[in-house]
Amino acid sequence: MSRPARPPAVHYEHVPETSSASCRALTILDPHDRVIGCLQYRLCHPCRIGHVVNIAVATHWQGQGLARHALHMALAEGAGYAWSTSRQSPEGRRFFAAMEEETEIAFPADCARCPHMAEGATITPLSR
Ligand SMILES: [Zn+2]
Repeated sequence: MSRPARPPAVHYEHVPETSSASCRALTILDPHDRVIGCLQYRLCHPCRIGHVVNIAVATHWQGQGLARHALHMALAEGAGYAWSTSRQSPEGRRFFAAMEEETEIAFPADCARCPHMAEGATITPLSR
């Protein structure tokens, strides 16, 4: 994959989490604040698990490393966590295969889940 001479003039906006294992989103906006991509993911800090729910970039913005950059931002939040992804399209599988090679982080499909994620946005005590 060739890199652009300059990074594209886009910016990234974080939708903050609302609870320990809630769904988060990172939107990618073009210079006119139009949404051109989105990364949805979940992090569970108690279990040290990260799960990529969905990643999408508008067709004419693909191939510029936007999804890659967004994923790196999510990975930085869950450094050292066990990551997984939802079932992906062929493009998605290629993307994650390339990311596995680059980051040496495995992204198995639908593997790591925890009770916090299964219950969605609610927080459950781990033990009593
Ligand atoms: Zn958990």
